Amino acid sequence: MYTRDVTQYSPKAEIGPKSRILLVEDEELIQEMIALALEEEGYEVLTASDGRSALEYLTNWESNTGEVPCDLVLLDLMLPQINGLDICRWLRYQGNPVPILILSAKGSETDRVLGLEVGADDYLTKPFSMRELVARCRALLRRQRLNTVPETSVLEYKDITLYPQECRVLVRSQEVNLSPKEFRLLELFMSYTRRVWSREQLLDQVWGPDFVGDSKTVDVHIRWLREKLEQDPSHPEYIITVRGFGYRFG
Ligand code: CA
Repeated sequence: MYTRDVTQYSPKAEIGPKSRILLVEDEELIQEMIALALEEEGYEVLTASDGRSALEYLTNWESNTGEVPCDLVLLDLMLPQINGLDICRWLRYQGNPVPILILSAKGSETDRVLGLEVGADDYLTKPFSMRELVARCRALLRRQRLNTVPETSVLEYKDITLYPQECRVLVRSQEVNLSPKEFRLLELFMSYTRRVWSREQLLDQVWGPDFVGDSKTVDVHIRWLREKLEQDPSHPEYIITVRGFGYRFG
């Protein structure tokens, strides 16, 4: 029988390319509803019905398999055995950067603040709509993915070399000074050469999903970046405008 429960999860199970979400929720009906909504969005969902099994999964999985246990944790606060705040606190104490979204029936400001203080990334008060939940999950996973853009390898394309960890860029062997946003933009472009990005996608990735502002911001930064990278900014060879879509690199 198909089960999402972490206590039944075999470390030999094949690991797919989908984002894996650990859902820690003791109310069966809510657990089922959330799991179905997320699976419909293409996520792999694992469930834990109490704090202890969640914590056991999170601690044992990595040492058994070398795999990251999950890409996102959805955490109810009131749980049997070990409560959500303690799980959150423990994960951060261990230096685990996994994004955590707290789901709680408690709506008071103090709980919210406490949740964020112990290291949660976001907080959703029950009852919430599945649409809202899915949107928050997507935003957190996107942020996570951006953080895990390969950081160790040097990115090279034609005359441009980017050193992600040193935040340095060489263009035709000359050091170029980029603002943090320009650097992020170039890093993203160089990580996915020839991929076409819409302005909205670039805003999401570089400025973050919470950025409120105009997509013209992107155009302005692209112009600055071109002036620093291109030999002839009016005939760019690196950052190409794709009419009706956005931009691509290379
Ligand atoms: Ca609960």
